[in-house]
Amino acid sequence: MSMSKEIILEEAEKHNVKFIHLQFVDILGTLKNVAITVDQLPDALDGEIMFDGSSIEGFSRIQESDMYLNPDLDTFTIFPWENGHGKVARLMCDIYTPEGEPFAGCPRSTLKNVIAEAEEMGYSMHAGPEPEFFLFKLSENGEPTTITHDKGGYFDLSPVDKGESARQEISIALEEMEFEVETSHHEVASGQHEIDFKHTDVLRTADNIATFEFVTKKIARDHGLHATFMPKPIEGINGSGMHVHQSLFEDGENIFYDPDDELGLSQEAYYYMGGLLEYAPEFAAITNPTINSYKRLVPGYEAPVYVAWSSRNRSALVRVPAARGQGTRVELRNPDPSSNPYLAMAVMLKAGLTGIKNEIDPGSETVENIYNLCDEDREEKGIPSLPGNIKEAVEELKQSELMEEALGDHIYNMFIRAKELEWNDYKKQVHSWEIDTYLRKY
Ligand code: GLU
Ligand code: MG
Ligand code: MG
Repeated sequence: MSMSKEIILEEAEKHNVKFIHLQFVDILGTLKNVAITVDQLPDALDGEIMFDGSSIEGFSRIQESDMYLNPDLDTFTIFPWENGHGKVARLMCDIYTPEGEPFAGCPRSTLKNVIAEAEEMGYSMHAGPEPEFFLFKLSENGEPTTITHDKGGYFDLSPVDKGESARQEISIALEEMEFEVETSHHEVASGQHEIDFKHTDVLRTADNIATFEFVTKKIARDHGLHATFMPKPIEGINGSGMHVHQSLFEDGENIFYDPDDELGLSQEAYYYMGGLLEYAPEFAAITNPTINSYKRLVPGYEAPVYVAWSSRNRSALVRVPAARGQGTRVELRNPDPSSNPYLAMAVMLKAGLTGIKNEIDPGSETVENIYNLCDEDREEKGIPSLPGNIKEAVEELKQSELMEEALGDHIYNMFIRAKELEWNDYKKQVHSWEIDTYLRKY
């Protein structure tokens, strides 16, 4: 629904909204809130609420600390709970400078820039994310553990446990917020869940992912559980991905569909896929931004490791789901839910558009389970690997002119710096694996 200032003020009054969370994410993807009371809402809607940007990681230097929150009126959504005084609503915001310009460090504005590029080519991108997450028990003193309650398995139907009812409540809350939840199910691993969103325009999708993570954590807490989007919380079982189904529309028609093609895909769909495959190593640092992300991208757990596409195989980086017509799409399987949804969408779209512009051939599909191919077979077929850790991924990012263009200098440089610091800190740590392996041996 297209919102105006007047409609929002009316809705707020009608539904007894007392607080508004002005939300945005920082460069590393952390959701930030500036909470205001309903009395400040008219000012907020005029973009007059200021905050101190220097207090937020990766945001700005001290000298550019005054920033303005410019809310996107169409994102006004009332949370389905009360906080004791009344209802709480959210508005997603772009960050503006005191000069009234979009701030170069604002991830949402960065995505908008790439969307504008797609629009110039006549396209609008649709994205449908499949975020996975674990629900874990809290310890006696309320700290998260990695212990689950559950006995469930993939698509288990009986609500066997606390996790199951928490997930149902999350889905209901999202529906009350008018998010279109397509499916919600138990995932392969014990304690693991997935909630899939119906595809919609990519900016809305990124907004919805940011809010979804917040809603999920809150409702899990209400059930005495901890929800985590950490990509690989437990070694030896599946990790949590956030596959992204993507397609391009032109004048309301899905242009990835071509009934005359053997697989029902258009030339644009192949080139888009070619772009995703070509640039996946360069954008992996954005779609898989943590040290832990790379513990998920190992063979044997339905997560991709090698750069190939397939119309059936779940070991491939890009899969083409069976739906055709308006539902025709490609599914990129490496992104994980620790990524900043705005930056992840921006780099994927940039890669796909570049595939179309430069007519990048994705090659032929890989039919066999790629996990089972030996190194020589993969080399012969020209199947490269994704980066093996965040250090390698950042090296790829540092070489990437395309990603610098997609992210803009400010975010590109800040992001690289933050990830190098993270790696330098991590590499000094003595891991429990090392103690287990070496303490007695040497
Ligand atoms: N959990 C798997 C991953 O890490 C994906 C399972 C699935 O195909 O949904 O990507
Ligand atoms: Mg899944
Ligand atoms: Mg999937």
